[in-house]
Amino acid sequence: MLLIEKGLALPRDGSTLDTEKVMRQGLFMSDETWLDRHGQIVVPEEHFNLGGKTKWYGAALLRFAPDEFGPDLLHQCLPWPFGYDEMVPFYEEAEELLAVHHFPLEAGLHAMSSALARRDPSWRRQMLALGLARDILAYPEEAQHFDAFASMRGLKRDAETALLDRVKNKPNLTIITGKAIAALAPTYARARRAIGVVCEDGSRSRVTKYCSPRERCIALGCCSLTWKRMDWRRHCPAIARWVATTKRMC
Ligand SMILES: Cc1cc2nc3c(=O)[nH]c(=O)nc-3n(C[C@H](O)[C@H](O)[C@H](O)COP(=O)(O)OP(=O)(O)OC[C@H]3O[C@@H](n4cnc5c(N)ncnc54)[C@H](O)[C@@H]3O)c2cc1C
Repeated sequence: MLLIEKGLALPRDGSTLDTEKVMRQGLFMSDETWLDRHGQIVVPEEHFNLGGKTKWYGAALLRFAPDEFGPDLLHQCLPWPFGYDEMVPFYEEAEELLAVHHFPLEAGLHAMSSALARRDPSWRRQMLALGLARDILAYPEEAQHFDAFASMRGLKRDAETALLDRVKNKPNLTIITGKAIAALAPTYARARRAIGVVCEDGSRSRVTKYCSPRERCIALGCCSLTWKRMDWRRHCPAIARWVATTKRMC
């Protein structure tokens, strides 16, 4: 199994908790430029690093409520093709891996939610499910900087600490960082199957056999995926159609 990541692993020296470096200098944000549909240059402020955006996320890990899988007639939305019960084993596994805990509301929020409920009884109070270590409060610097910052002690459970660190030493997994995929390499022009990937530096990673849609996973994040569709449309129309389908499913 090969995992190719465009960015590098983030430093664990405390700089990712430093407001000056993270917020003011934007040190960890990519300055890559994209073109919008009018041909204007935009800087989408993407993060490219091992662990993806979960390194920066707020770790609020809520389940959809059972009724949210149903149709929403008011907004003309169809129901999901499966119900909440089917998701439960996946929620449970993800919550265990991400060590999701429920944290009580802070005093200020408690007062605010009480005031809201007095005005409109449909407001509900609920403990917040967070992928944070229980003892994070013992580290004020981390407790005050987890949303939009990256933990240096691994107190926020992210894709690197909670998932990749568990498997990175497995003999059947290779993780390459600092290499960007530019396109899937089709077996031949207009092919329906990919034989590997072409990276931006021109290198190719070839798999030992053709990979079917079940055996490959493109997880560039939804913004990058849309952008990469352009390359696939040019290189391999069948794969572009598949990517378009995947994007709709996201
Ligand atoms: C500040 C912030 C707070 C957030 N808070 C929450 C929250 O509290 N709760 C919540 O549920 N969600 C939150 N999110 C959203 C959540 O983090 C993302 O939805 C989620 O991480 C997306 O996962 P992904 O795998 O789709 O994309 P990503 O995490 O973006 O992963 C895509 C990976 O692909 C890599 N990549 C991109 N292009 C290439 C390429 N060409 N070649 C190789 N590699 C490539 C990227 O570097 C990245 O590592 C937050 C996000 C941010 C930025």
